[in-house]
Amino acid sequence: MGDSWGNLHRANQSRTDICWRDTALPANDKLLTVGNRRSYGDVCINDGGVIVNATGLNKFIQFDAQNGILRCESGVTLWQVLKLVVPMGWFLPVTPGTGFVTLGGAVANDVHGKNHHAVGSFGCFVRSFGLRRSVEGDMTCSQVENQQMFAATIGGLGLTGTITWVELSLKKISHSSMAVESIAYENYAEFLALSEDSEKSHEYCVSWIDCLNTSGRGVFFRATHGQQGSLDDPVGTGARSVPAIVGTGFPLVNQLSLRLFNYFYIRSHEGTRDYSETIAKFFYPLDSLLNWNRIYGRKGFYQFQCVVPFDNADVLKKVLKKISNEKQGSFLSVLKTMGDITSPAMLSFCRPGVTLALDFPNRGARTTKLLSALETMAVEAGGAIYPAKDATMTGETFEKSFPRVSEFTDYIDPSYTSSFWQRVKSA
Ligand SMILES: Cc1cc2nc3c(=O)[nH]c(=O)nc-3n(C[C@H](O)[C@H](O)[C@H](O)COP(=O)(O)OP(=O)(O)OC[C@H]3O[C@@H](n4cnc5c(N)ncnc54)[C@H](O)[C@@H]3O)c2cc1C
Repeated sequence: MGDSWGNLHRANQSRTDICWRDTALPANDKLLTVGNRRSYGDVCINDGGVIVNATGLNKFIQFDAQNGILRCESGVTLWQVLKLVVPMGWFLPVTPGTGFVTLGGAVANDVHGKNHHAVGSFGCFVRSFGLRRSVEGDMTCSQVENQQMFAATIGGLGLTGTITWVELSLKKISHSSMAVESIAYENYAEFLALSEDSEKSHEYCVSWIDCLNTSGRGVFFRATHGQQGSLDDPVGTGARSVPAIVGTGFPLVNQLSLRLFNYFYIRSHEGTRDYSETIAKFFYPLDSLLNWNRIYGRKGFYQFQCVVPFDNADVLKKVLKKISNEKQGSFLSVLKTMGDITSPAMLSFCRPGVTLALDFPNRGARTTKLLSALETMAVEAGGAIYPAKDATMTGETFEKSFPRVSEFTDYIDPSYTSSFWQRVKSA
């Protein structure tokens, strides 16, 4: 299997594990610290260098349960945080679509969730963190201490050093259930109208779109934290796992299985429904099947995620049409909007607009050609590609869509690099 979630790369890299915050880092000028390697492409890969696996930094340091301020080591996962804090009436202020992400990874990619329109990205809730640099040693970064390094490290793709601990502000909740409404829609215009309407009343909004169907049909979900029930442990991590053998063979994903899956998914969400759901089911539906990435077989898969500004949001109609014409897209794709709350990060992917994310089984040049065409469409519309998901964007695209790259470069630790960085900077 590969070295990141997409299983596309088999890197020539050595690995060292760290379990203590004061462990000395290896003396090497090609380091990259990684978390749970839930990034799809090559931001967590360091071909020709050393990866420093920080998942052993998994200890809680301090929790102020009155004010919801949590400090823990950077290898602690979102699931571990939730198991501790939910029964005490606290929740993550922002969470991506899997709880297996570490806090270090969440900071370094400035991840976003279903509530970006309401609260912004993960970086907006980071109070401070510890950073180990190869020359300067340990430093604390916050909005008032080493501010520029703080801004460079959030969304900094692991290039500014090793994050050893993170202090985070949590969100108060009184119940662990989610009050959810699902609404079937017929086309992209309906999705935009539903988003505009729902964002006024619901903290969480997301939609699944059937990218194999030319009409643009999908299911819109809007939710708030529930107003009844208890504060239960948010259990629900996967008990089932896709066997390793599946990942070494041919993909289980084909046009027939995709069409059937998408059809039945849409059929099972016809009309409008109100229901109550657990945190696990609402935020992390894919976590119930461990190693699901193996279904794409030994060649792995790409994920494409772009965001385009609202003014040019209609370009996504063309993007979706191209995907459905090419018949390469995979299961239901995620479509949602992002709001205008600015992240402290120099390189955040998050910006106001509409974001589309979907998987593509790796079919070699046919797939990379399509990805390149989609990238061009998104970037010409003033959009950007998400580094956490990316394995193919050009250096030109990166420079154009992340305008603070040259400022960021001053904060890179000279002993750190990544395959992503080598790719976009050597172009
Ligand atoms: C099923 C699934 C759903 C997802 N949904 C979303 C979503 O909704 N929104 C979203 O934003 N993302 C989403 N992602 C992407 C994921 O949130 C990010 O890729 C996240 O950064 C992965 O965290 P990780 O701990 O696995 O880090 P890794 O993938 O191991 O590393 C990610 C980056 O962080 C750096 N890094 C990690 N730990 C440290 C550290 N201690 N010090 C310094 N740098 C470090 C690495 O160098 C790398 O650049 C999803 C991924 C999956 C698999």
